[in-house]
Amino acid sequence: MEKIERDSLEVDVLFVGAGPASLAGALRLRQIINEHNETAGEHGRKKLEEITIAVIEKGREIGSHIISGAVMDLRPLEELLPNFRELGAPLDSEVTEEDVSYLTRHFKIKSPIIPPPLNNHGKYVVSLNKLIRWLGPIVEESDVMLLPEFPGAELLYDGDRVIGVRTGDRGIGRDGERKENYAPGADIFARVTVIGEGSRGSLTKKLVEKLNLDHDRNPQVYAAGVKEIWELPSGRVKPGFIMHTLGYPLPNDTFGGGFVYGMKNDLLDVGLIVGLDYQDPFTDPHRLFQEFKQHPAIAKMLEGGKMLHYGAKTIPEGGLFSQPKYYGDGFLIIGDSASFLNSQKLKGIHMAMKSGMLAAETIYEALVADQFDEQQLSRFEAMIEDSYIHKELYQVRNFHQAFRNGRRWGLIEAGLQYATGGFGLFGDLKTEAGHEKMKKLHVFNRLPRTSGDVPQLEPVKYDNKLTFDKVTDVYRSGTEHNEDQPSHLKVLDFNICIKRCTFEYGNPCQYFCPAAVYEAEEVNGGRRPKINFSNCVHCKTCDIMDPYQIIDWVTPEGGGGPNYINL
Ligand code: SF4
Repeated sequence: MEKIERDSLEVDVLFVGAGPASLAGALRLRQIINEHNETAGEHGRKKLEEITIAVIEKGREIGSHIISGAVMDLRPLEELLPNFRELGAPLDSEVTEEDVSYLTRHFKIKSPIIPPPLNNHGKYVVSLNKLIRWLGPIVEESDVMLLPEFPGAELLYDGDRVIGVRTGDRGIGRDGERKENYAPGADIFARVTVIGEGSRGSLTKKLVEKLNLDHDRNPQVYAAGVKEIWELPSGRVKPGFIMHTLGYPLPNDTFGGGFVYGMKNDLLDVGLIVGLDYQDPFTDPHRLFQEFKQHPAIAKMLEGGKMLHYGAKTIPEGGLFSQPKYYGDGFLIIGDSASFLNSQKLKGIHMAMKSGMLAAETIYEALVADQFDEQQLSRFEAMIEDSYIHKELYQVRNFHQAFRNGRRWGLIEAGLQYATGGFGLFGDLKTEAGHEKMKKLHVFNRLPRTSGDVPQLEPVKYDNKLTFDKVTDVYRSGTEHNEDQPSHLKVLDFNICIKRCTFEYGNPCQYFCPAAVYEAEEVNGGRRPKINFSNCVHCKTCDIMDPYQIIDWVTPEGGGGPNYINL
């Protein structure tokens, strides 16, 4: 086999994925190194000289893949950049009015009180996308190399020690052949590799499998969030108004709820979270979101408005007991990749940033000791356990599991958990991986009558005013991929799709993907997905929810994917 000549680069610390965890981590590390060097002489310590820090990012720009319509806890930002207001941090509006409601098909029943976990007074509505686009240049100015369009394709190892990342090749055609512009990915070697790729990261998934980092942990469970940004007639939106809903359109056995956040400039952030541990294989988060918008209470808010942007992402919901071991020889895992997210409060940005900053403290100690093995990097776990991250995660350690028997019992159990510091009725609870909870078609009385005559969801007509089909929505996500490249959605065995999945589950990929990537085509009496990979918004739902676990999401050519704005 021809040996491929690759460029290589050596850095001291490499962060993978330019989200809130990595950017906060890289900036904090630079700050600590600078503080160390300023006072090293006084304390008789050696300076840490010429420490190189790099952040690689698969998106075409820093921020283009970032989406979270969020109500943010500002603690880590205050710690990282105490003068963030003077620096023009794009916080949208302080939360001033809150609404928690239960939706039936036609009615909205407002809770007379705001349940304490959902009390967001003092927090800020933000667009994480805007925040990251603002933070990126600050991090870069602090002498951190930011490398957009550099997707991490695989981790580099020396035995079980992580020694860096190989970035993706460019210029491979759809047929797998090299094109004229072929350029092999570079090998970036680092003393510490910090993985902050977000939810269901493709490198994290392989690392966890290889080193068995989830041994004895609950399987991770996820939710999919689908959202749109709307511009409404002038004066309609109250900036700082937030609403969380339960109930319609989600059935009792499906975890999740809706949200509406008022922002400045007449913008409204509206979305639906759907637990990716549902039972009905025809569950379609995008379609449910369209139904959510048709509820009279939501439709009235959106009347006369214009949908501007769309996006989708997954959220790690499993909490404390689903966290993989997040350190080892040569690596740390931070942010959503390590499940640093409070699922009860639906908040992960502050934990992502704080985990990145604690990773920075850990790496600083490792640089001083000139030691990067598992024992040295285990300091990260001790620091997490000493921080508010652990305290918060511990209090909600059983939250998602409380809903294992549906919403009604879930609400009662979650209330008891709140009153008992997270213990609830039964103490520490197990989870099941979401795809294992999906039930076969016959359970839903949708048994195919003859082979080739398989049930399908009735198509819906969308009005393009309030409701939109997936393709129209994807257009509003700015998603683009070079079409002449191999698909980055690897279906490992199409025979399973045709011979089993069609009849057992009805090819659920055509429903759970919020971007119309999978289109079921009749083949040999069954169906197989035609893969429109250029629509992919990188949410990872397919990698998580495929019932046979035969979809492997890998990074496409650098720069491909959504171009999120304001999301
Ligand atoms: Fe999400 Fe997979 Fe669809 Fe891409 S193909 S948008 S990762 S579900």
